[in-house]
Amino acid sequence: MILDHNYFSTLWIIILFHFGYCSICNKRNVYTINHFRQKCYTSELITDFKDWTFPNSFSLSKHFPIDLEERNYVRKVKDVLFSKVYPTPLKTQVQLVAFSSDVLSNVLDLDSCVAKQANFVKFASGSFLPSESIPLSHRYGGHQFGYWADQLGDGRAVSLGEYLNRYGDLWELQLKGSGKTPYSRRGDGRAVLRSSIREFLCSEAMYHLNIPTSRAAAIVVSDDEVPRDMFYDGHPQIERAAVVLRLAKSWFRIGSLEILEKSGEIELLKQLVDFIIKHHFPSINEGDVDKYVDFYWNVVNQTASLIALWQSVGFAHGVCNTDNFSLLSIIIDYGPFGFLDEYNPGFVPNTSDDEGRYSYENQPDIGKFNLKKLQTAISPLLTEKQKQSTDDVLKQYSVIYKTKFMDIFRRKLGLITEESDDENLVAILLKMMEETGSDFTMTFCNIGEISLNNLSKNNISKNLWALFTLKKHKWFKDWKNMYLDRIKRQNTSDRQRQILMKQTNPRYILRNWMAQLAITKAEKNDFSEVRKILRILTDPFSIQKEAEDSHYALKPPSWSKQLKVSCSS
Ligand code: AMP
Ligand code: MG
Repeated sequence: MILDHNYFSTLWIIILFHFGYCSICNKRNVYTINHFRQKCYTSELITDFKDWTFPNSFSLSKHFPIDLEERNYVRKVKDVLFSKVYPTPLKTQVQLVAFSSDVLSNVLDLDSCVAKQANFVKFASGSFLPSESIPLSHRYGGHQFGYWADQLGDGRAVSLGEYLNRYGDLWELQLKGSGKTPYSRRGDGRAVLRSSIREFLCSEAMYHLNIPTSRAAAIVVSDDEVPRDMFYDGHPQIERAAVVLRLAKSWFRIGSLEILEKSGEIELLKQLVDFIIKHHFPSINEGDVDKYVDFYWNVVNQTASLIALWQSVGFAHGVCNTDNFSLLSIIIDYGPFGFLDEYNPGFVPNTSDDEGRYSYENQPDIGKFNLKKLQTAISPLLTEKQKQSTDDVLKQYSVIYKTKFMDIFRRKLGLITEESDDENLVAILLKMMEETGSDFTMTFCNIGEISLNNLSKNNISKNLWALFTLKKHKWFKDWKNMYLDRIKRQNTSDRQRQILMKQTNPRYILRNWMAQLAITKAEKNDFSEVRKILRILTDPFSIQKEAEDSHYALKPPSWSKQLKVSCSS
């Protein structure tokens, strides 16, 4: 052994320091269940879109005051959470790029055949609204890149209403890219095809990776022209406007509360937090005097979990501003995100993020920064003693995060028991991956694919290409022996280890080059690649012929290194 125990511990501390040490509640309210019973669903899915309706009585507009000003112009809004805004229909012909049959059938009770119906495509593009719909844009604020940015709000998104499905779950439907709102500031209210494809594919990919996220039902594109200076270098290009029909149990975010605290709207702040607790945090007792501390504890826990999940699949969100951090700890707002190819903890997916504030390795720390802002936002609702309690909760964040991180990374290595030295096992592996530039996703897959027998003999075939890269590291032999001993001590068969690893480590993720391929084709009206990637990422843990033929589990092509993604969307 060239590496002793102290060395491992030190290394782990360095890596944790590097990381900064650093589910959505499925509340089914009584009233929603009662309503569901009254609806008397049959088990069949709806096959004609005109039979599909919103239950208007649950609209957020019934619970909260709405902006009395109904004219749609950019302005500062006060004392309300929402403005009524109708989507602006696209001027040119609209085409359906893709739809998620899983969302259609399992969330919206719609048979997939509905996606081809003209009314559905009109609905998904914002030119047809069911008569019950009261479309709303949400007023929120946020800290952007560390600084308070004041009012932001849904500048190009409109919530169409809430749909209660056959399981009794309430989902808020939203169009993104549907035109200007009072919150558009200097923007045009539109979203271009490339960023919409990325959002559509990644939200569905994340769902199938079992990571809490907003969902995407459909994406449409038009020939409406939208100028975008993609790299902010004075070279604007004309791009095509697209719209994504997306869904979440709630779109409330840290910035939803921040703006109310900053502008002294404390009654409304209390009303909103009470609403969120009642509808989305079933474990919290509404009558409990400490319910806001409990709420904070829940969000801290779930945010730590979410970020540990991001790290476990090599996901960098790209714009972790407080306006993009959900109070339900789901991923919202897919912008310049990226997945790691070669393991590089300093990876920054967003070329506009010069300082690397939102690098992969900074995400756990940024989570804590954002949760501190949440604490400030709810502070008017807390007594001095309760403020102290939320301080104590926030102090626990790093420990909670580290526990969740280790739980997942143990599973990624096929470990079902806990040993104190597991932290070193993970830390050394990551350090070797960093120094050899081995592929994050495929290294874990390959370790799960190789038999312990072959691993012990260093019999690593070139097909296991990521592990083949890793084995060049000078520590590999020692690490491998440490791993083999560790597996032996937990008394599981090699087959059990391999099954667990296969269930935990995805083989296919939305690599930047894959998304780019789909975008390039879609810009020429060939949507086959978008649909193919969606199909494949619906089952990311299983080997699929179509994906293997497309080289999605191989080393990314060299041109992928030149790809850049910016905030422009
Ligand atoms: P994001 O970086 O996507 O989270 O957006 C930050 C803020 O800018 C949000 O308030 C968005 O609604 C707004 N925004 C982004 N793009 C546009 C656009 N094209 N038109 C209007 N508002 C936009
Ligand atoms: Mg946003």
